[in-house]
Amino acid sequence: TTVPLLRQNDGREIPQIGLGIYGPDDSGTADAVAAAIEIGYRSIDTAALYQNEVGVGDGIRRSQIDRAELYVTTKLADDSHGYDSALRAFDTSLDKLGLDYVDLYLIHWPLPGVDKYVDTWRAFEKLQRDGRAKSIGVSNFQPAHLQRLFDETDIRPVLNQIELHPGLPNVAVREFNTANGILTEAWSPLGRGRVFGNAALEGVAQKHGKSVAQVVIRWQVEQGNVVIPKSITPERLAENIDVYDFSLDDEDRAAIATLENGQRTGDDPDTYNG
Ligand code: NAD
Repeated sequence: TTVPLLRQNDGREIPQIGLGIYGPDDSGTADAVAAAIEIGYRSIDTAALYQNEVGVGDGIRRSQIDRAELYVTTKLADDSHGYDSALRAFDTSLDKLGLDYVDLYLIHWPLPGVDKYVDTWRAFEKLQRDGRAKSIGVSNFQPAHLQRLFDETDIRPVLNQIELHPGLPNVAVREFNTANGILTEAWSPLGRGRVFGNAALEGVAQKHGKSVAQVVIRWQVEQGNVVIPKSITPERLAENIDVYDFSLDDEDRAAIATLENGQRTGDDPDTYNG
């Protein structure tokens, strides 16, 4: 499967589906990253917080793929907000990855109570100007947090990585992103596994001869989202990018909508402060 590219507001492109690799240690991460690249993945999403950046770098080197063909994302940890701290944290991440640039650097959480995301963003702008983060973006930003960046800084984030799955479609944030030229990237796109075992989704999957994971990832892709499902199993990794040979109809979307319950699987960005 070849995963299509989506155009960012800085002119660069991101593969629509990537491997999100939160959980495994360095060794398990290296195995999963190498397997994913072998299967056709070209985008990997990690974070300083995941403590597996070394494993991501090892998996990339093991695959012997040309660096230019890969899109590597990492994120600034919550304890590193602030201009100087962010620059230092970026150096540490790059060191651990063993790379000389990342494709995308994200502020992991806005931490509104800490109130340093604007200064942090100015450090991100410098990293991009220096060419060490080719693109810069944010994660878990609500519209009010984005609006402050628009008002007080120079560069717009290329994307906003937010919790988004059938249980929490996060429509208002997605629409705000879109209206402002920012791609929406869905984290926990399978609701951390909560989408499985649902009769309505199993019905849609059966109708299309696809799996429940494929139906949900297709639902993401049809919204124009970037998607980073997590798996370390080669069969599932292959399954999760094989979503470009069918489409959902109104009846399917209505079945998926029955899963909406507004429940987050993670923290609330408006109140989480690290
Ligand atoms: P997910 O929604 O991707 O679900 C993962 C679960 O689904 C795992 O249990 C996995 O075994 C299972 N699964 C995956 N593919 C399957 C398949 N084809 N068939 C059956 N089961 C399958 O959950 P996640 O790991 O929480 O989210 C994905 C990624 O999002 C993370 O790895 C991380 O990179 C990112 N993330 C970011 C944030 C953030 O704050 N920015 C927060 C959480 C996660």
